[in-house]
Amino acid sequence: MLKHKNSVKAYIRAKELIPGGVNSPVRAFLSVNQTPPFIAKGKGAYITDIDKNRYLDFVQSWGPLIFGHADKDIEKAVIKTVKKGLSFGAPTKIETKLAKAICALFPTVEKIRFVSSGTEAVMSAIRLSRGYTKKDDIVKFRGCYHGHSDSLLVQAGSGAATFGAPSSPGVPKELAKHTLLADYNDIKSVEECFKASDNIACVLIEPIAGNMGLVPADMKFLKDLRDLCDKHKSLLIFDEVMSGFRASLKGAQGFSEVEPDIVTFGKVIGGGMPVGAFGGKKEIMNELSPEGPIYQAGTLSGNPVAMSAGLASLTKILKDKNLYARLGHLSDLLMRGFKEGAEKEGIALQVCARGSMFGFFFNEKEVKNFDDALKSDTKLFASFHKGMLERGFYFACSQFETGFICDAMNEDMIQKTIRAANEVFKEIKK
Ligand SMILES: *Cc1c(COP(=O)(O)O)cnc(C)c1O
Repeated sequence: MLKHKNSVKAYIRAKELIPGGVNSPVRAFLSVNQTPPFIAKGKGAYITDIDKNRYLDFVQSWGPLIFGHADKDIEKAVIKTVKKGLSFGAPTKIETKLAKAICALFPTVEKIRFVSSGTEAVMSAIRLSRGYTKKDDIVKFRGCYHGHSDSLLVQAGSGAATFGAPSSPGVPKELAKHTLLADYNDIKSVEECFKASDNIACVLIEPIAGNMGLVPADMKFLKDLRDLCDKHKSLLIFDEVMSGFRASLKGAQGFSEVEPDIVTFGKVIGGGMPVGAFGGKKEIMNELSPEGPIYQAGTLSGNPVAMSAGLASLTKILKDKNLYARLGHLSDLLMRGFKEGAEKEGIALQVCARGSMFGFFFNEKEVKNFDDALKSDTKLFASFHKGMLERGFYFACSQFETGFICDAMNEDMIQKTIRAANEVFKEIKK
């Protein structure tokens, strides 16, 4: 058994001062009934906790670290910038450099603005869509996560096209009712929303959903969304905070021809520092203050240290023509290994991989939307998670999260992970 004495002690102390002992709820490991290891350091594909246990890390800070921990090139860029001052609240040239690198990849993104988190990026994109279209309602999909801003912490009652009810205390009903909910991969449910409201500013979607587990949207579905938005003069927003530079160089847009009106980014574009961004056609982006009337701002937005981490990460990505093929090969290998191992033990497992993202559901049927995902066996997942952690493999602590491959991983590490998983499948089958 791994020892967790120091982590348990640190967790108890943290809980006295920080709600739940963590600064973001999922980190508390509650859904797998464990206490979280406190991390001392990371190097490449591995993290080490304060009890000196070392884990192969498939979380990678929930996505940002495509090159693994403490990458030398990113580290060097950050330190160079740090020495010149941490923040000015004034423009620096590095913001334009990062903007140029991103805009060059996405035809939709002619202009971009940087913020400090994915939450902020999506929140601002929604305000922009409302200001631009002069409409108030938004459509989101059950099971998609877009950060914790008020309008987006909304869940459905029963039936399609329900006007949302708050999914957290503190979100006013009056606000939640402007968020309409539809079902992922189900165009009829979106049509219902447009029937229920003629005041829809935008349809917001993770084109490769990563926050109900990994569930990619069907190509045809995305195309139908585009047509519906055009027909009703609503904007289509792709939230690529997770999938951007992860699923492929161009995120979901590397798989689909569909062009959104606004794209949001985060995670990888910060290289491990707090960065988010939203971009779109000039005509829309120029509505932002100070060029236009729609207000959006941030004291630390475009922070030079964060920008230099992002730019170093992106530069490294762009230089490496085989990066996504390499990462994709490893996620495919891992998921095929998991599937075979589970089947050998008579465990039903649904697996999926998109570039460096992977996901697996303990589920009898293919998962196409949130309802399907919810039918997964979360108890079995919790046992699997515990068995893997015990063997030194760190996976996201919930059935409804995505896993990440980083470029510091290799085939040997993946084979070891598959062998460990096979042991665990044997252990947990009923
Ligand atoms: C992580 C995530 C967010 C929120 O980003 P934060 O930086 O955690 O605020 C928004 N949308 C998607 C798709 C995400 O995966």
